[in-house]
Formats: sequence, structure tokens, C-alpha cells
Amino acid sequence: MSTPHTAPVTDSRLAPWASCPRRSRGRRLPEAADPGRNDFQRDRDRIVHSTAFRRLVYKTQVFLNHEGDLFRTRLTHSLEVAQIGRSIARALQLHEDLVEAISLAHDLGHTPFGHAGQDALNEALRAHEPDGQGFEHNLQSLRVVDELEEQYPGFSGLNLCFETREGILKHCSRANALRLDAAEPGGVGRRFLDQTRPSLEAQLCNVADEIAYNAHDIDDGLRSGLLELSALCELPLFGRYHAEVSQAYPGLHGRRLVFEVNRRLLSTQIHDVLAATRAALAEAHITSADAVRCAPVLVCFSAGMAVEVQTMKRFLREHLYRHPQVMETTGLARQVIHTLFQAYLEQPGWLPEPLRARPRSTRVVADYLAGMTDRFALREHQRITGLRLFE
Ligand code: MG
Repeated sequence: MSTPHTAPVTDSRLAPWASCPRRSRGRRLPEAADPGRNDFQRDRDRIVHSTAFRRLVYKTQVFLNHEGDLFRTRLTHSLEVAQIGRSIARALQLHEDLVEAISLAHDLGHTPFGHAGQDALNEALRAHEPDGQGFEHNLQSLRVVDELEEQYPGFSGLNLCFETREGILKHCSRANALRLDAAEPGGVGRRFLDQTRPSLEAQLCNVADEIAYNAHDIDDGLRSGLLELSALCELPLFGRYHAEVSQAYPGLHGRRLVFEVNRRLLSTQIHDVLAATRAALAEAHITSADAVRCAPVLVCFSAGMAVEVQTMKRFLREHLYRHPQVMETTGLARQVIHTLFQAYLEQPGWLPEPLRARPRSTRVVADYLAGMTDRFALREHQRITGLRLFE
């Protein structure tokens, strides 16, 4: 009887330019190695067991959680990013565990109510401290894993490996990179000052994120009725696969048709990234993981696919993210964030007991607000104002 193949990722299965736990730059606080798991697996496990990860289930992607049970949330989005990321990582012989860890953690710092919540919190912070760091969700994701999680007896945060933290900090303004680099010289903020690249695994997670949200926002947009199939068919990429599927399965309609078109769309983007990345690695003569850092971005779409993906993103921005119905919801969401921020700052009595004891600061309020799920923020808004929104 054959046994299933369950061997862990070993160095021999990795490309020379892949990240490797044995060559990791390590954790901020050194820890003894785990006997059964490599350090990237261990990071992934810490992320899955974190409080911030469980909160993702009630955080908005595009549609608020109460609008329907089948729309994506930050949690299902993160799982889809991890799935796409791991598929590509395995084919490119990159480190799957690192890709999974970064994918599952990449949105941990998102506020309630998606981008509307983030913009509102950024505005509120900047109004109080024009020279402060404001709010950036990537930076907040790093704060969650570095400082805000409270699980371990010996340290705050999850004490993750450098490579996982680097991948989580996808973007960072120069001002905030300078702050990070002052606190951790040569650490994860450095590359934004040196203009160098992160690992291939981190680059891959950015592309997997983009592939995932374009595909599922199309799916959710159609499910919600805010996007019209006929309008989507005018997009070259979508239209091509819609025509192909309609020809292969005449009479196919509804959910199965949409799923099949989206499935082909995902596959074609993944195969495109595989081919374009292999070509970029060869062209840049990459021979090691270190060489990746001084090269241009290597995990990428082909030039042709990049244009099609941009067109798709523009379409989604115009037709879905700026749809009047979505805009109305995001307008109310901004109101909730602004009201809560003001209330907690002016009357700390509204804050939970442990936070009241801390010195009053906009950062304490911002961390508390950013950690909220959509429905908790709505409940808090109702408790403070007596108003019931979205009902
Ligand atoms: Mg994302």
C-alpha cells in the first residue's frame, strides 16, 4: 500500500533563489528551534492562532458582512490569496510555508469597513497630529504581529521571522520607513529607504493578492447585482473567456457560467505569472535569494497581461467600488469611524477598562478602532450615539 506524500518542504525542493528558514535573518527575540516545524511553518501557525486572524471573518472586503453570507470577507480573501500564492510558489519552487504565512497575515491590520474605514482613520489621526504617522494598513498589520497580539508570556506580538515581517510590510511611506528604521536599524523599514526588493515569496504574495481580489470582486459584484454580466463581457480578458465557455457549453448560465469563466481567468493569470517570472529570473541572471533584492521586481505579469489586469481594475473601480450603493455604505462607515475616534479621545470612559488606564493617546484609540470588526464598530456606534445604522 502506498503512503501519501507528506514530506515537508526540504531545501532540495527549493530553487536557489527561494527563501530558506535555515538562512533566515531570525526573530527579534531569539527562540529555540521547533523539533517538528521549520520557522516559516511556525510563523504560519502563530498567525492562524492569533486573535487578529479570527477577527478577519467579520471584516469587510467590499460588501459589509451583514449584506449577505456569501460575499468575501477579509478571512476568505486571505485564504484565497494563500491558495493562489502556494500554487505559484510550488511551481516556482519557492517556499510555500513563507508564502502562506505572509498571505494569511497580509490583511491583519485592516480596519473595519475596508478602505473607507482606513481612509477615515487616517484622516482622523492626521487631523490630530499632522506630523504623525497617520494610518497605513500595511504598517498596522506589522504592528499587530510585532506588538498588539497578547498571547505569549515572554513577549508582545508574535515574534515572527524577519522574512514574514518583511512580506507583511508590503508598502510603507518614506516618513514611516524612517521611523521604523530608527527603531530597528537595518530592519524591515530599510528596503523602502534603499529602494531594494523583498524576497520572491513576498513579491509573490502581492501578485496573488491582486489576482484574488480581481477575481472575487467580479464574482461578488455579479452576485450582488451591482455588476452586469454584459458590461463585464466588454472587458477583453473576461469577454474572451465568457465567449470560450459559452461556445464550449452552449446554454450554460448563472452561477456555473460565472464560476467557469472566473476559473479560467484565474488559471490564465497564474500561468502568465509563472512564465513571466521564469523569464524575468533568467533575464536578470538570478542565482541566489540575495541577488533578488537588488534586481527589479521579478514576480510579475507579462506586459500584455499587466495591461489587461489594469483595465480590469479600472473597470472594478468605476463600476463596483464607486457604485452609488457601495459609496453610500462607505459614507456611513466613515461616519462611524470618525464618531468613535472622537468619542474615545474626548471621553475615555467609553473605552474598555484596560485601555482607560493607559495614557490617553491617539495611537491607543487608533489601535483599538483598527482591531474592531464591522459589527462590533456598529454596536459601539449605537451604544455611544443611540443611532442604528445599516438596518
Ligand atoms: Mg489583500
